[in-house]
Amino acid sequence: MSPPVPAGRDRLRIAIQKNGRLAEPARALLASCGMSWRESRDRLFCYGESLPVDLLLVRDDDIPGLIADGVCDLGIVGRNVMAEQDGARRASGAAPAFREWRALGFGDCHLALAIPEGEAWESPAQLSGKRIATSYPALLSEWLAREGVQAEVVLLSGSVEIAPRLGQADAICDLVSSGATLAANQLKPVVTLFESEAVLAGPMQDLDAARGELVELLLRRLDGALRIRNSKLLLFQARRESLPELLPLLPDAEAPTVMQVDGADRLALQVLCHGHLTWQRLEDLKRAGAMGLMVLPVEGMLA
Ligand code: ATP
Ligand code: ZN
Repeated sequence: MSPPVPAGRDRLRIAIQKNGRLAEPARALLASCGMSWRESRDRLFCYGESLPVDLLLVRDDDIPGLIADGVCDLGIVGRNVMAEQDGARRASGAAPAFREWRALGFGDCHLALAIPEGEAWESPAQLSGKRIATSYPALLSEWLAREGVQAEVVLLSGSVEIAPRLGQADAICDLVSSGATLAANQLKPVVTLFESEAVLAGPMQDLDAARGELVELLLRRLDGALRIRNSKLLLFQARRESLPELLPLLPDAEAPTVMQVDGADRLALQVLCHGHLTWQRLEDLKRAGAMGLMVLPVEGMLA
């Protein structure tokens, strides 16, 4: 059964990481949805000024539990933390108490199995009887069970990557983004167990009416902010006959606004592109006949 949401609170409360990789991008994303706050002296609570939406600044590991207990309505946390705690709940027979409401497109990383650089990798079967250090015992155990491998899971809360050198483990299962930390510890990734990014987490059920409306407003703004994250407005001129070659080069573009330029054999185009615009792509557009190409940032969009 889902936990009850405490009644009588008409402000929304969002938990975000206090310090760490997701702290700043989470705040920046919420600020881009028009929120501003007054911070408490102890930096644990931010009172929402522009909207009745407050922030609780906590350790990322606490966020799913705060949602499960109804202390916070929403949270911004790595999908890895959600999945690990969900797995632990499942293993203990508890019902799911939080779910992913939106993927947020930052904090990308993956949970990888890594072994010492000098060792050959053939298959998961070679881990049989070995010790694997991790801070993600539930996700690792689920993967081992799926692969039919019996290995010892060594639980470490930090510095997992030095465990093989300290003789604490034969392999590790840890979060990786660039892979630089693994390489610095003479380890190589061999299997990806789980792909992660920051997510907006919320309860399994909808919120009550007062906060439900606020959540809808927030989600509308959030979806707008996510949609324009990489978006650019392109302005350029072109001859009509260049369009068949030009238009397919525009990355994830909306329908262009096309205007006739008075007294010239040209069209002026205005196109919103959501895909990544590289220098290479801009040069391709110029070669295909785009003239006076201008790329403008998009600050806001309401669908
Ligand atoms: P806290 O003090 O809040 O417990 P932490 O040390 O557990 O912080 P961080 O290292 O700040 O957490 O990582 C927060 C999240 O950032 C991770 O759970 C993960 O989703 C994401 N992340 C992205 N890249 C990496 C990476 N290379 N290593 C670890 N986490 C990463
Ligand atoms: Zn943590």
